[in-house]
Amino acid sequence: MGARIIDGKAFAAELRGQVADHVARLGAEHGIIPGLAVVLVGEDPASQVYVRSKGRMTVEVGMNSYEHRLEPDTSEADLLALIARLNADPKVHGILVQLPLPGHLDEDLVINAIDPAKDVDGFHVSNVGLLGTGQKSMVPCTPLGCLMMLRAHHGSLSGMEAVVIGRSNIVGKPMAQLLLGDSCTVTIAHSRTRDLPDVVRRADIVVAAVGRPEMVPGDWIKPGATVIDVGINRIDAPENGAGKTRLVGDCHYDSCAEIAGAITPVPGGVGPMTIACLLANTVTACCRANNVPEPEGLTA
Ligand code: NAD
Repeated sequence: MGARIIDGKAFAAELRGQVADHVARLGAEHGIIPGLAVVLVGEDPASQVYVRSKGRMTVEVGMNSYEHRLEPDTSEADLLALIARLNADPKVHGILVQLPLPGHLDEDLVINAIDPAKDVDGFHVSNVGLLGTGQKSMVPCTPLGCLMMLRAHHGSLSGMEAVVIGRSNIVGKPMAQLLLGDSCTVTIAHSRTRDLPDVVRRADIVVAAVGRPEMVPGDWIKPGATVIDVGINRIDAPENGAGKTRLVGDCHYDSCAEIAGAITPVPGGVGPMTIACLLANTVTACCRANNVPEPEGLTA
């Protein structure tokens, strides 16, 4: 295997350390404790796991965590009323509504009810527009984590050919905006792209955010390219025993690692950076709310 492994776990631990330092400084110098409110509607098991680890890591870096768990049949009016209270609460600097929401709730309406200054997921249309026009915004956590790892690996990304596979609002589109902001030549590929292998072969940077296990084989990768695998897919692993499963990315790790110059593993690549960036965004939001200079290196 030729590729250097980009260790997202180590990156994330370092970023959380920086966040903890800034939180301590905000407390000591300004008497402010950043606060993150996480809202979970319903009992989706994966969402419960995410919310629990977000809360734990928020507390670990010294911030306040406010968890709001609502019944699956919560009305839109009640959810919007909670968001209005959190928008008005000066102790809350970041608000995250865990997605997906139950089907009777309008996700766009709910996300756009969050104060954009507290929208630490970066999904509010105002933040999407600010990012798209190169203005200061809250940047979605997963693409922000990918960008940080790419910058740390390459230094400047200027002039590089980047192909983002997937056009979701959460990952693909904001990732493309960030790469464009760093002066890459960006292609967004998706389910209707003609000759995807040929498009991917042009890329110095491949970001795969599709949700299809091991879809990208090594022979699509340009030798020496950097592969950022966002996908998290659970597949059967009978080799580990009856009924066992394991996580794989959207890229076929072994064959891509033969050809690529650098690659993020799954698990242990992009995933850990996502929560670390959520904590970083909460500190950024807290500094902006209090007119305190923003720390370097926590946002794009
Ligand atoms: P999504 O389903 O919203 O979007 C998937 C995109 O892939 C779509 O734009 C679609 O056009 C494209 N696509 C589907 N089939 C394709 C094909 N055959 N060829 C090319 N493109 C195709 O998914 P998402 O929310 O962007 O998530 C993508 C993956 O990333 C999932 O595995 C998800 O679990 C993972 N994810 C990981 C993190 C993390 O923290 N690591 C965060 C968010 C999402």
